[in-house]
Amino acid sequence: MTVRVRFAPSPTGYLHVGAARTALYNYLFARAKGGTFILRSDDTDRERSTDEFHDDILEHMAWLGLEWDEGLVKGGEHGSYRQSDRYDRYREVARALVDAGDAYYSFATASQLDDFKSAAREAGTSPAYDGSLEPDPHDATSRIREGAQAAIRFRVPRPGETRFTDIVRDDMVFDHRQVDDFIILRSDGTPTYHLASTVDDVDYHITHVIRGEDLLSSTPKHILLTLAMGAEPVTYAHLSLLMGPDGKKLSKRHGDTAMSAYREAGFLPEAVNNYLAILGWSLGDDVEIASLDAMVAKFDLGAVSKNPAVFDPQKLTWLNGVYIREMDDRAFVDRTVALVEEDLGRELTDGERDQFMEIASLVKERTKLLSEVADHVRFLFSDIERYDEASWKKVMETPEAPIALDGASEALSGLGDWTTEAIDAALRAMLEVHGLSARKGFQPIRVAVSGSTVSPPLFESLKVLGRDVTLTRLSNARALLS
Ligand code: GLU
Repeated sequence: MTVRVRFAPSPTGYLHVGAARTALYNYLFARAKGGTFILRSDDTDRERSTDEFHDDILEHMAWLGLEWDEGLVKGGEHGSYRQSDRYDRYREVARALVDAGDAYYSFATASQLDDFKSAAREAGTSPAYDGSLEPDPHDATSRIREGAQAAIRFRVPRPGETRFTDIVRDDMVFDHRQVDDFIILRSDGTPTYHLASTVDDVDYHITHVIRGEDLLSSTPKHILLTLAMGAEPVTYAHLSLLMGPDGKKLSKRHGDTAMSAYREAGFLPEAVNNYLAILGWSLGDDVEIASLDAMVAKFDLGAVSKNPAVFDPQKLTWLNGVYIREMDDRAFVDRTVALVEEDLGRELTDGERDQFMEIASLVKERTKLLSEVADHVRFLFSDIERYDEASWKKVMETPEAPIALDGASEALSGLGDWTTEAIDAALRAMLEVHGLSARKGFQPIRVAVSGSTVSPPLFESLKVLGRDVTLTRLSNARALLS
């Protein structure tokens, strides 16, 4: 059997981090099994589905590198892979189920159903709707022929139960007393999620459905529908949902949930994948860092935990920093140069790119998010327009500042070699001469050349900045001190 899995987002919102995790697990499983990963769009909610959300989902799937084999954009044997293009097929299945007696036209009104449920509750019987309010099938058919509109409901076998073994949650049993005869086709002819999803899974020969636990209670309905269509039910794996640190379902209240926000904030897709993968699945032996390929090699859906996983942006940030530090300098510069150029509003010259390369390893050490890089290197490529106010107050409004700036100018202007070692030695000697501590003496120099107290290490910064610029900035800052 060739594994065929699908990720089936509804384009009613941006790609959510929890949905991305579902997509990732589908991807890992497909790759681990040499199977096919399908992307389809569950866009039956015509009011809330938008092209913008659709595009956002595709864009961030691509950004994460979760390449799919079949489906949206890629195409395949099964048409458009958008549910909104397949209404005829869903109607055909719904009508065939009516003909076979597995579904029926339903005329019960909402208030009749309410009454049914409250009566059942009072009598202590099952509140699941069992079709008992409907006219007999002959009447129903003639009313439909006469042009009446009615929804189509699936006839859930009663008494009965649906059992299945979920890869993550083990043995599941649903008593049909908990399952309504559910609507598969609304009276306006539009399919419900249950129908569209199941028909697609059957038509696309899906073998495993890996999805969020929020859909667990829908699964007996999907199994019953699948069987009524004469098909073999798929194997299910319901993933626990992501939680915020307070143990509640991850939502906007906890911070960003859209993948785009993480991309913009400077997270690396590799780090995001890695983090999402280890939320609920362990690489074993305290291993936390692994590439997508390494995760594919180890992935075991059966080892995914059914416990809720807490999404912790701080841990993700830490992991992102690990990934950044592990990049080689060239890759780091290549990946961040566009951000630096965007910040500057111009392209870097070849010489400036070399400067960036020279300082890259030191910037990497200090970077957890790619979006921080421009802040770290801006001083190299543009004049200081504004000194950071807090930094200025803290280190420039001290009696030592003018001494340090003058001392540095003197020590550096006469320096023979402009190397990190020579700068280091000259400035330390200057501290000695004036009896300054490293903190009191070096901080003003740092603020003078970089505009703030946060910059890569001082001697290397001066080295990369060059002598002329360094001396100019020292004297500019000195001129502002009385
Ligand atoms: N479209 C559903 C959702 O976005 C998922 C459907 C499924 O995986 O069965 O929640």
